[in-house]
This record gives sequence, structure tokens and C-alpha cells, in this order.
Amino acid sequence: MARYTDPVCKRCRREGMKLFLKASRCYSPKCPMDRDDRRKPPGMHGARKSKLSEYGVRLREKQKLKWFYGVLERQFRRYFTLASKSPENTGAVLLSILERRLDNVIHRLGFAPSRNSARQLVNGGHVMVNDVPTNIPSMILKPGDIVKVKSREKSLKLARSIKPESAERVPDFLEVIPGEIPEGRLTRLPDRGDIDPRITEIREQLIIEIAAR
Ligand code: SF4
Repeated sequence: MARYTDPVCKRCRREGMKLFLKASRCYSPKCPMDRDDRRKPPGMHGARKSKLSEYGVRLREKQKLKWFYGVLERQFRRYFTLASKSPENTGAVLLSILERRLDNVIHRLGFAPSRNSARQLVNGGHVMVNDVPTNIPSMILKPGDIVKVKSREKSLKLARSIKPESAERVPDFLEVIPGEIPEGRLTRLPDRGDIDPRITEIREQLIIEIAAR
């Protein structure tokens, strides 16, 4: 499976915003984006500001969204094609699809401190969707789908070890099912107001313009 291997903090510095790609480090003083001496874009001429072309502005907006959700270009294309077939607003549908990815749902339910750690849980075979084991973090969930950590000791131990200390507020389109085993349900399709508050400023119209080229 293809994946990016460059240092993740570099992506935040490139985009000029926190993308929350690491777990607790993103909220600690170690985050380079919170340090004046480390915040500049990567590269020898990183501190130099150059004006972006119209294409460049759109490209950077698309990259921010892809990094934030941990999506590769080919997956992004697939989601865009799906969204553009919908009679509803393409940008809003695209964001809704990204929010329904299994790794994102696990993270936003508060079962993992980042999308990366949620992906590790899924890749390791510790998660079930509707009681069926899955190892596909990019799976798109539907309303009514139930996500659960396997009840075996190894999976629960791992889930406990990576559980965030203070979970973000669970969004309205998700519901945590109370119990010993981490379990939750997608109650409805997320809309624009449900997307992760850390990326709400994303300008999806610009992304649609570049993706439609
Ligand atoms: Fe690194 Fe997280 Fe800070 Fe981004 S937000 S620079 S991933 S520590």
C-alpha cells in the first residue's frame, strides 16, 4: 500500500497551519507550529514569501485537505468522482465522504488520538464494522453502521493504550455506545457543519475547481 514517508510536521509547516497529524505532540509546546523559530516553511528558502498563482492557491487548499484526512491522490480522485455524481453540493458531499472514512470515525468517536493511530488500529485487524472484521481504514461508512474494537484482550489492550486522555467532543452524527468495549454508531450523514472544527476554514469551492480540471 502506498504511503507518504516524509516527516509529518513538514506538511504543517508547508501549509502554514496545524494539521494535527501526530497525537499528543500536536497539543504540546513541542509542536513546531507553536514555536516562532520552527514555524517557517521547509527548505532552504522556506522563510521567503512568494506570491502564489491562482492555481497554486487551489493546489495548496487541496493538499491541506488531503493531509488532514490522510488521503492519497488516487483516493481523493475517487471521492471527488463520487461527490460530483451527487445532485447536492459537490464540496459538501466531498467533505461528508471524508468524514465517513472509518479511520476518521474512530478518531472522532474518541477511540484514537489521531487518524494515524486509528489507521494503525484498523490495519492491525483490531476493528469490526457491523460485527465483520475489517482492515480497510478508507472504508466509507453509512448511517446505521456500527464500529467496534474487537473484544479480544490484545485489541482492547491496544485500544486502551492509545485512547486519548481527553477526547474531543463527539460530533452529532456519531454516537458512542456505552460499555466496556469501545463501540459507536454513525447516526446520519454528516453535513458541512459537522466537519472537524480544526479544518472548518477549508475552502472546498477552490478544491472543487482544481479537481474538476
Ligand atoms: Fe507536527 Fe502536530 Fe504540530 Fe503538525 S500540529 S506540526 S503534526 S506536532
